[in-house]
Amino acid sequence: MTSKSQSQYRCPVCMCPRFVAVKPYASTTLRSSGASLHKCASCGCWSLWPHLDMEETQKFYETSPWSESLVKKENESHFVLQSQARCRFIAPFVSEAVNVVNVLDFGSGAGAMGDIVPSAVRKTVVYDVVEINPEAVKLLKGRSSVASVFQTIDAVSGRYDLAIASHVLEHMFEPEILLRSLRDRLSPGGILFVEVPNEDWRFKTTNEPHVVFFSQPMLVHLLNRAGFTVLRAATCGRRVLDLIMARRISLNGRIARSVCLVYFALQKLMRIYEEDEGYARYGGDRRWIRVVCRRTD
Ligand SMILES: [Zn+2]
Repeated sequence: MTSKSQSQYRCPVCMCPRFVAVKPYASTTLRSSGASLHKCASCGCWSLWPHLDMEETQKFYETSPWSESLVKKENESHFVLQSQARCRFIAPFVSEAVNVVNVLDFGSGAGAMGDIVPSAVRKTVVYDVVEINPEAVKLLKGRSSVASVFQTIDAVSGRYDLAIASHVLEHMFEPEILLRSLRDRLSPGGILFVEVPNEDWRFKTTNEPHVVFFSQPMLVHLLNRAGFTVLRAATCGRRVLDLIMARRISLNGRIARSVCLVYFALQKLMRIYEEDEGYARYGGDRRWIRVVCRRTD
């Protein structure tokens, strides 16, 4: 991460050195950092500037419910649904020629994708992860579907047929650096799956813990810059009922969470998500952007 004193503003998407607008970063933890959202003069991407230093970044994540939500048991059904939808999106692009699919999931969280990828691609899968959240690492080490757990991308020396960066890039001040690292670790014909929020500054009441706010054209532009050719890009979202549930949780705490659990149990029992393909077809709210791309040689 670049320190404040050493750097000038650069758009994380297109590297343009000019911004045209500034607004406060909606946050409960960053009020004193002096950082705010800047809009790129060229591509229009909003991002947090100046970059946070290591201490601020650590505080940022320690005080964010983000880390905790990754490993909560009650969120597991969400992660399974999302992983199923992502795998359906990815599977058509996994090379037919590969018998054993080597997968690297960067920022895997609790590693739900490791359980879903094998059935989606109908092949043997070796599932490696890079994860720093200590709670998630504990879970990952207990999962039979996980082959290796790495702390940093630099520790990864293998070559992969599929790299995954799901809800990762929006946390990075310099996402292109990670993309190039992942690109270097792809086998010939290897693909990368990326999912990010779709300009969530427009609809969320708080910006944290995100530092870059992509639209679909911005994400495609960044991937091209980092040496990828986009094979498929789409927006997706949640079902209307899930959104209502999420809203209720925010308004009504524990009771609403119980309602949500009952809803998911019924949903599972009635196999509702199998009929409508889970999150894959929930284009209504377009809250996420999903891309499959391959290394441009
Ligand atoms: Zn830009």
